[in-house]
Amino acid sequence: MENVKNRSDHPLNSILRTDRIPHIWCPGCGIGTAFSACMMAIQTSGIDLDKTVMVSGIGCSGRGAGYTRLDSYHTTHGRAIPFASGMKLANPELNVVVFSGDGDLFAIGGNHFIHAARRNMDITVVCVNNLIYGMTGGQAAATTPCQAKTTTTPRGNPDPPFSLPLLAFAAGASYVARWTILHTRDLTKSIEEALNRRGFSFIEVLAPCPTGYGRRNKQKPLDTLKIYQERTVIKNGAHPMDAVMEFGSSITLGKFIDEERPTFSENYDRTCRPQSA
Ligand code: SF4
Repeated sequence: MENVKNRSDHPLNSILRTDRIPHIWCPGCGIGTAFSACMMAIQTSGIDLDKTVMVSGIGCSGRGAGYTRLDSYHTTHGRAIPFASGMKLANPELNVVVFSGDGDLFAIGGNHFIHAARRNMDITVVCVNNLIYGMTGGQAAATTPCQAKTTTTPRGNPDPPFSLPLLAFAAGASYVARWTILHTRDLTKSIEEALNRRGFSFIEVLAPCPTGYGRRNKQKPLDTLKIYQERTVIKNGAHPMDAVMEFGSSITLGKFIDEERPTFSENYDRTCRPQSA
């Protein structure tokens, strides 16, 4: 009885589908912490929850949309951003949040990401970056570090990874930040802030995938958390070039970009419907 009572007292209870829990994530996985931070931010941001939707693609992080009591959409692989963009354009009053993983958003969905950022689509994108495709079998992703071992690169990954904050900045995002699951307060505050910004907001969350990445690279979840504790440096306002991660060197966290610029809809109205602008 005590457990049941505690569960009903959980601070996120009102926006979680508790009937779907326990969740599917492996022990030591970082997605649950990133998801809780995102839900906490949504709850405390002051946005109208009846006008808030969560969209995800496919993958372990993509399961997040299934656990929220908000209106939510679990879409096809790599296509969370076009679904989210369509929803925002059809109903501009909505707050649209994409919660998905690096494989989904930056490999299969990479093209959608850069164009939504370029157009400054008014949505918030939270990407859990665990450096690998988790659910689909531990394959190398566009974020896998050079030389890291994966099921598709058993001798080591020969390719350099994307730096997600740098890519978001270069594509035109108006809000860009990076945190880890060890920095939950900063992360929650950052998502909360992004939800109240107009335009394309992007938050990267570094998180361990002990099953897909850790096992092959001899990194237990605690080892990853130690890296997040010992090798991260918070530099709010740093240039996104500082966000490039090199194997074994320090990792820059913080808010890199926070600036106002016209959204897609504003540019469209000004150019194509000047009478309504
Ligand atoms: S495979 Fe990796 S990312 Fe997926 S739930 Fe397990 S630990 Fe998390």
